[in-house]
Amino acid sequence: MTPPVATSHVVYIVGWGRSGSTLLTAILGEIKGAFAAGELRLLWSHGVQRKRLCGCGKPIPECPIWSQVLEKIHDAPATAEEMERIQARRLRSRHFLPELFKMARNRGPDDELTRYATTYAMALAAVHDVTGAEVVIDSSKNPIDALLLQRVGVDLRPVNLVRDPRTVAASWARRKKLYDGDDESELRLFTPWTSSVLWSLWNALAHLVGRSTDRPLEVVHFEAFLEDPGREIDRLAAVCGLTREGLHLDGRTVHLSPNHLVAGNGDRFNTGVVEIEPRDAAGLERPLDHLLSSIASFPMTLRLRYRVLRRRRPEPPG
Ligand SMILES: [Zn+2]
Repeated sequence: MTPPVATSHVVYIVGWGRSGSTLLTAILGEIKGAFAAGELRLLWSHGVQRKRLCGCGKPIPECPIWSQVLEKIHDAPATAEEMERIQARRLRSRHFLPELFKMARNRGPDDELTRYATTYAMALAAVHDVTGAEVVIDSSKNPIDALLLQRVGVDLRPVNLVRDPRTVAASWARRKKLYDGDDESELRLFTPWTSSVLWSLWNALAHLVGRSTDRPLEVVHFEAFLEDPGREIDRLAAVCGLTREGLHLDGRTVHLSPNHLVAGNGDRFNTGVVEIEPRDAAGLERPLDHLLSSIASFPMTLRLRYRVLRRRRPEPPG
């Protein structure tokens, strides 16, 4: 018999981008009792400031869910403009280590970051109120955000979603449109070296988030999810304290309803019967890029049980 799994009201997906979080979040959102918020940290910048599209196809301020959430947090300590400014000035990859040192030295976040985290926590609470969901899934992935949310008392359950750093680096090297209401908007590009350094940093900090809670860090390998979606979804549903009820998943075929993911890639807009298949799975073409990516992602590759250097076998077919 498996031991009962401790539950939390917020499941926070942490890890480096292009690891499959949009699809995974959309699938988890189908489960009865769960609400997939998507990349909630972008509610203020993409949503309020730039009026980008929700997964339901409406601009965020006009979405039936997010308009109510925004109404509920209208008196939050930080404005949307301030939330965006704080993220740009203090919560990008290059700020992670300096901000962590500052927090350690001052024994906690300063007033500005506390205002930020409190506003974010209010949004999470408002999502629970508006949707009635038992569990909200936030796929923002930012480890410092997760630590700040913990500091203001959000009882979050961290899930570290990882994918082979070479596959991820190949994905970051390709142009990708966002389809979020702005025809020009694309995800930014990273070199294999930079992507893999950041892969190491973000995943190492995910483990720090795991250590800051008495709930164990749940690690999900995207490759394992592609191999057997049902097995990984059942495991994550148990982490949420839920079952697979409400989800129509058969092998690698899933039925997705329209969702309200705040942000994420174009997978947000795929509804109906969707095949779960490896996208961007080609890996890095040039052996030198593969080597550089492997060096930059060591030793986290070892810790996360990926091949350190050798080229991996292709992902299972969809
Ligand atoms: Zn919506």
